[in-house]
Amino acid sequence: MKSAFDATDPPSMDGLRACVHCGICLPQCPTYRVLEEEMDSPRGRLYLMRAAAEGRTELTPQLAHHLDLCLGCRACETACPSGVPFGQLLEATRGQLERAGVRAPGAGRGVLRLLLALFPRPDRLRVMLRALRLYQRTGLQAAVRGLDLLAPFKRLRALESLLPSLPAGGRDTLPEITPARGPRKGRVGLLTGCVQSVFFPHVNAETARLLSAAGWEVVTPREQECCGALHLHAGRLADFRGLARPLVAAFPPDLDFVVTNAAGCGSALKEYGHWLPGAEAEMFAAKVRDITEVLVEAELPLQPLPVTVTYHDPCHLVHGQRVRSQPRALLRRIPELRLVELPDSELCCGSAGIYNVQQPEMAGELARRKVERIRETGARTVVSGNPGCLLQIAQESRRQGFELEVLHPVELLGRALRDGGEGRQG
Ligand code: SF4
Ligand code: SF4
Repeated sequence: MKSAFDATDPPSMDGLRACVHCGICLPQCPTYRVLEEEMDSPRGRLYLMRAAAEGRTELTPQLAHHLDLCLGCRACETACPSGVPFGQLLEATRGQLERAGVRAPGAGRGVLRLLLALFPRPDRLRVMLRALRLYQRTGLQAAVRGLDLLAPFKRLRALESLLPSLPAGGRDTLPEITPARGPRKGRVGLLTGCVQSVFFPHVNAETARLLSAAGWEVVTPREQECCGALHLHAGRLADFRGLARPLVAAFPPDLDFVVTNAAGCGSALKEYGHWLPGAEAEMFAAKVRDITEVLVEAELPLQPLPVTVTYHDPCHLVHGQRVRSQPRALLRRIPELRLVELPDSELCCGSAGIYNVQQPEMAGELARRKVERIRETGARTVVSGNPGCLLQIAQESRRQGFELEVLHPVELLGRALRDGGEGRQG
């Protein structure tokens, strides 16, 4: 039977056949836990992908629906004893659906198109940021939220509800070179990221300050743009490659590491070798590190912070990059900080790139469960290394009227760094 997939980046047959249908992944899958439907489990989705690959089904809107509902969180990959590369199979299949123009019924493509058009373009992001600041400062946001004026537009409403209080100033004020302090270890590049640089520029500033304190010279290339992670997860493989290649070229080749503080970006960067043929992309991907992987190796002079915190694992860090112990080890190094484990910490919060905007009901349910677990820990500060998770958890805690401080690990480490405000930027 003829495959339903075309010859451009089809999902790997070996990968699909690796699934032995054992079901071990099912309890780890957030959508299966909520819906208890086989076709909304990893095993069911793999069955659909394999049926399409073997020509036993067409690419149908129903098939697209089950794949759209997948968060791409890759918790199933961590659980799977057979090594099924679920993330790559999903992204390749989404690419096939995208090219074939097959859409799930009621799929929210408008918001997806808007966000994918915004993020790769710094000029558009700057305009958007100015407009959003005006929206907040004039009191329009308070009126829109208070009167629930966006209620008829559920995806726009979901997008608006994520908007944090915007920082004053520009996107990034980081110099192109931040010198190392103390004995110099080497040179690293810093990815500033689209969402991070717009909504959390202080996280980038703290990242550079901590790296510098750890002995690294930090190169922040001015010409870097979007890494394409959102495009990759949405199956827009041609657009993704069009962004990834110039990003690789923007970083000097003599760096020891390329550091990111956004788990979604880091996970995509580490897979450049798979999606972009050529030695240059492979070498680049091999140098990519999450900020916690680099800092955990460093001696940082940290002063006491008497605070109780809990830690949420971003999916693209814990499942996509297998970075689990490093953020916890770093937090435990802060004197007097008490870290309490969060039950179901590895379960997705519903953010998943722009999933929370495209699938607001499922994302809302997962966020509700996540904030409930956080409340049960007794901590009033939650830490997580991905801007999407920070926005999602903050939004849900606001909705619940629960006062919660939501921080990136570098924000806490930055507070504890024993040099006062010296060297702070942004
Ligand atoms: S990626 Fe996440 S949501 Fe999708 S099937 Fe795997 S565990 Fe479930
Ligand atoms: S994906 Fe892995 S864990 Fe899940 S059913 Fe298949 S073999 Fe089992």
